[in-house]
Amino acid sequence: MATHMRFALDHGDTDVIMGKLEDAATYDALLEAGARGKLAIGSIHCGDAAAVFGRLMDSGVAVHRLAASIRLVQAQRLLRRLCEDCRAPKRPTRAELDYFGLDEAFLARVGLDFLAGESIVFFESAGCSYCDGSGYVQGAPGWSTRDRVPACETLVTTPAIADLLRQGAPLDAIRQAAWAEGTWTMRESALRWALLGVTSLTEVVRVT
Ligand SMILES: [Zn+2]
Repeated sequence: MATHMRFALDHGDTDVIMGKLEDAATYDALLEAGARGKLAIGSIHCGDAAAVFGRLMDSGVAVHRLAASIRLVQAQRLLRRLCEDCRAPKRPTRAELDYFGLDEAFLARVGLDFLAGESIVFFESAGCSYCDGSGYVQGAPGWSTRDRVPACETLVTTPAIADLLRQGAPLDAIRQAAWAEGTWTMRESALRWALLGVTSLTEVVRVT
């Protein structure tokens, strides 16, 4: 795949989208495309957004290339949508509110300030004939916006993050800096969907 992409880069003027990146040659080819000013997008299996930097560094990519070529990394997991025919409100316990950190600062952080001061309600589904007893929307096989919503963590390579990369900072320092700059964690993004009643707290815990 890397060889094919190099050929395309040398003989064409197109942007690049690659499927699963799985070795140093494909990482290198994608970064090269970015360095040449192309829009280059690739997918890679990692636990979270910052872990992508770790994977590339472990494969021998120099940190200055990461800082210079990568504009953003988005990690994503899919949450099942609750069946609207059988979902029912469920008030979280005090312990759950504390465990998930669902205070006013959190609501402001995920853009749900309007819920501050309201009593927070989640939804769970028992299952019905419409959803085949599953409690969740039944969709066609594969990805669909009808039956799934994405919990996303979007890590932008801001000047501060780029500096940390160049300094060889640990991934946790990069995670903390991104969080301080407003990046939602996967869990925060998932909780947002649960607060909006689109998915359940059970699904949030299962997926994130
Ligand atoms: Zn149902």
